[in-house]
Amino acid sequence: MDQGPSKGLHDVSLMSHDRRLQGRPRLCSDCGLCDSFLRPQMAETCLFVRNRADEIEQRLHGRLRNPGDEMRFGIYREQTIARMRRPVADAQWSGMITTLASRLLERGEVEAVILTGTNPGTRFQPVPVLARTTMEVRACVGNKPSFSPNLGLLDQVREAGIRRLAVVGTSCQVQMLRQAQAQLGLEHLDLIGIPCSDNVTHEDQQFFLATISRSPATVVHYEFMQDFSLWLRHEDGHIERVNYIDFPMDQLQGIFPSACLSCFDYPNALSDITIGYMGAPLGWQWVLARTARGVELLDLLRPDLEVRPVSAAGDRTRGMPRYIQMLAKRPAKPPKLIRQLIAFLQRHRGPRGLEFARAIIEMKLLRNYTHVREKFPQLEARIVPYHVYQSIAPYTQEYAAVFGRAPGERAIADQV
Ligand SMILES: Cc1cc2nc3c(=O)[nH]c(=O)nc-3n(C[C@H](O)[C@H](O)[C@H](O)COP(=O)(O)OP(=O)(O)OC[C@H]3O[C@@H](n4cnc5c(N)ncnc54)[C@H](O)[C@@H]3O)c2cc1C
Ligand code: SF4
Ligand code: SF4
Repeated sequence: MDQGPSKGLHDVSLMSHDRRLQGRPRLCSDCGLCDSFLRPQMAETCLFVRNRADEIEQRLHGRLRNPGDEMRFGIYREQTIARMRRPVADAQWSGMITTLASRLLERGEVEAVILTGTNPGTRFQPVPVLARTTMEVRACVGNKPSFSPNLGLLDQVREAGIRRLAVVGTSCQVQMLRQAQAQLGLEHLDLIGIPCSDNVTHEDQQFFLATISRSPATVVHYEFMQDFSLWLRHEDGHIERVNYIDFPMDQLQGIFPSACLSCFDYPNALSDITIGYMGAPLGWQWVLARTARGVELLDLLRPDLEVRPVSAAGDRTRGMPRYIQMLAKRPAKPPKLIRQLIAFLQRHRGPRGLEFARAIIEMKLLRNYTHVREKFPQLEARIVPYHVYQSIAPYTQEYAAVFGRAPGERAIADQV
């Protein structure tokens, strides 16, 4: 097993030293676009060259986000908490995405769907898949929690003459597609988004499992749950739980690529429909239908869904000053007794439902904003979108006290 993260603990770089990725900018999430005929358009398309969330929102919705939850979650027409009445076997949650993608093919609404399958002979290694049948969609069920350069399949889409396409993708893939849409030669494109944060390379995903689990070779499914712990299901069905506070971050910090630490779209705000879980109670999924087409996609699923009201509990803002202080320190594990107390408080008094989603989105915005400001200050004006400043504005005082200047305020060195 690897001795550490593939790019080293403190390297501010792409993601790994994989030769395929040579020549890419230091900020790259291997979305796949540069493996396709669109590579020459990288500078006008890549969100790590310029984040165009505001322009895309204007085009899609005719407006920018309203104050409140839209700042954190993105613009949406309908929000629902739901799950499949009959869950799909082996799905990551209840299989809403697999069902929706299959239905689009069955009804002839699209000719193909881009998804992420599993490399044969491995358990979690992703492989981009252009599915033409529901069987092929079904085979892509479940998360493969590392980078999958799915947009590389755009060449195959073009060669096969496909005009009506759906894509299941991470937030960066969705933003690249929105930006490149006019060049794709498609008549119809459905974008089904998954919330995404802290993605890693496959080799670092293996390192993560080996570091976290007592038995990494037998893990068949895992998810970062809303109770502040990671649940790992093993071949024999037993669940191993590891509290977030117990993660050895001093060993793990190097696994996260600079791109994901410079990404500000956890909820996949530019999709037609986002299907995740983080705003829902345990066992349920969180769905945001964003565009008029997104509502139609949700309508396709509705007959199969059990729904419950949206709910929220707790107060995320109480823990945020402490979180901002932690951002300024090197990652370290507190003593065991303190960790036990924190895990108890997070589980029983921590934010739940929508408040949990608000909490982790704001935490990632604060962390990633700090990363960009420290490691890529010259890029801040180009890659940090407007909604970040508005979302973290309530913490301006605490942030300025810890980091010496407020979000958005330029460093003295940058002002001369
Ligand atoms: C790397 C990653 C991080 C995520 N983080 C969060 C999170 O923090 N909060 C949250 O609410 N949700 C997150 N999700 C989404 C969530 O875990 C579920 O995938 C989602 O809720 C759909 O569940 P389902 O049962 O409907 O999916 P299923 O029906 O099981 O389908 C899963 C779909 O995910 C796609 N997929 C699998 N791996 C990848 C990949 N590497 N890249 C792109 N697509 C992939 C497949 O194409 C498949 O269609 C994440 C997903 C991934 C892949
Ligand atoms: S993130 Fe995508 S578009 Fe940007 S450099 Fe990497 S592969 Fe190219
Ligand atoms: S965290 Fe952001 S940049 Fe990284 S894979 Fe997910 S959406 Fe892309």
